[in-house]
Amino acid sequence: SEERSLNFIEHIIEDDLKAGFQKNKLRFRFPPEPNGYLHIGHASSICLNFGLGERYDAPVNLRFDDTNPAKEEQAYVDAIKRDVEWLGFEWEKECYASDYFQQLYDWAINLIKKGKAYVDSQDSETIAEQKGTPTKPGTPSPYRDRSIEENLELFEGMKNGDFKEGAHVLRAKIDMSSTNMLMRDPVMYRILNKSHHRTGNDWHIYPMYDWAHGESDYIEQVSHSLCTLEFLPHRELYDWFLDQVYEEQNVRSKQREFARRNLSHTVVSKRKLLRLVEEGVVTGWDDPRMPTISGLRRRGYTAESIRKFADTIGIAKRENLIDVSLLEFCIREDLNKKANRVMAVLDPVKVVITNYPEGQEEWLEAENNPEEEEMTYRKVPFSREIYIEREDFREEANRKFFRLKLGKEVRLKNAYIIKAESVVKDDEGNITEIHCTYDEESRSGSGTEASMRKVKGTLHWVSVAHAEEVEVRVYDRLFNDAEPDGHDNKDFMEFINPESLTVVKGYAEPSLKESKPGEQYQFQRLGYFCVDTESSKDAIVFNKTVGLRDTWAK
Ligand code: ATP
Ligand code: MG
Ligand code: MG
Repeated sequence: SEERSLNFIEHIIEDDLKAGFQKNKLRFRFPPEPNGYLHIGHASSICLNFGLGERYDAPVNLRFDDTNPAKEEQAYVDAIKRDVEWLGFEWEKECYASDYFQQLYDWAINLIKKGKAYVDSQDSETIAEQKGTPTKPGTPSPYRDRSIEENLELFEGMKNGDFKEGAHVLRAKIDMSSTNMLMRDPVMYRILNKSHHRTGNDWHIYPMYDWAHGESDYIEQVSHSLCTLEFLPHRELYDWFLDQVYEEQNVRSKQREFARRNLSHTVVSKRKLLRLVEEGVVTGWDDPRMPTISGLRRRGYTAESIRKFADTIGIAKRENLIDVSLLEFCIREDLNKKANRVMAVLDPVKVVITNYPEGQEEWLEAENNPEEEEMTYRKVPFSREIYIEREDFREEANRKFFRLKLGKEVRLKNAYIIKAESVVKDDEGNITEIHCTYDEESRSGSGTEASMRKVKGTLHWVSVAHAEEVEVRVYDRLFNDAEPDGHDNKDFMEFINPESLTVVKGYAEPSLKESKPGEQYQFQRLGYFCVDTESSKDAIVFNKTVGLRDTWAK
């Protein structure tokens, strides 16, 4: 792998190793909450954690942070596993915070017994009011000094489902005047009389993030627990909770923070992406316009390109917005190496080659990919009638127009030089046919003098008689704003681009007749396209992955 300088997380780890931490105790985790599909921001976290695993030859767990049954589902668990695997990573263990519910409960009881946790029977509004402000100490709950016996009894009742949601919470007894608001007796458990996708109806209380996360790290003996910056103020609480359960012989997990990655012209938040799905703006989590891993995959992004993107942006200590053109650059580079070149015409106009014999056809040799080490070829049919792109022809044009115009020549890729002679128009003046003549000596690769003749433009084309009709879905940005969720007084949904999808009927060379979902091609001069998951032999559907160059108007 390429040499690069250490990132700041690696520096932290190197310092720990220098200070005597045993290398074989390094352990990492990627901890998604199964409340949605993974997105491109998660890819950064996945590449960071699994990348550390590779660098230090250390295990990396896939941990589902499944502590909120109201929002979590098995379907999300499955999708997350599929995406991490597809990105090319292997986890050591598949773990679930819910597997630790009993251990967490037992530890909570110990905290109650040590006088470090209590049951508060006020409603959440009152508790919030009593928290105070950063400059004003909070007010202790009237239940703060409840007896240990009463706390134990109530907590057990909470667990058993004796109470309604909201009747009680368990709070850690820390410091109601701490300058860190999170330390003002944070809630550890709330009552949720909901069925959990893994534990069913076993539990009526569910642990809060801060209580569950660090303790899960500790149970799994994760050495470095990496999370995004918004958790920086939580670190003090992470450490306080750990102090309550830590035993000398064990690894003491350590939380460190890095900046969340944001991508321009989209939103990277499961909650917001869920709205796009629920409100029908997109067809689902894997809609090719979504910044989800599954959407990108369906759009034609490769795992390599996403990993390359994550590695290129690296990790940072400060949040910023990454322009989506960098992601597009990464896929373009990868597909340039991998994708076979083929010809398809998406906005066709018919060309009749008047001096080419009627009923004749020939199969011309076409190179698959000039980037290949050993060149391979395929056959492309040529005949008297072909399609070219409507925008590749003008009746008249200035000298800078290197495509087809009346009286001028162009080369047809892999084929002959043609010259435009006249046009046929319908009643409204639209061109329905372009009549051309061809230079029969000029066939590409034939070795004749005419075949080497230089003409200014080269066009792609498809033989009408052999063309395969295909549906092509062409995508534009899903949002018309670089940072749709960056406006204080406007909802991100206001910036939806109503024209983010255009469906066109195109004509492709017959080699694409057999194409299978997931296959990727460069449509010459048009961009990279992949066969959609909805494609079938009778109805071939392509997604445009990305254009050949960055043509987005900034
Ligand atoms: P979301 O708001 O999309 O739900 P989240 O942080 O709540 O994001 P989790 O499922 O908890 O989502 O995320 C799993 C891991 O991925 C966490 O460690 C989280 O910090 C990290 N992560 C999530 N979003 C990003 C992002 N945009 N950039 C980098 N890391 C991220
Ligand atoms: Mg989270
Ligand atoms: Mg979240």
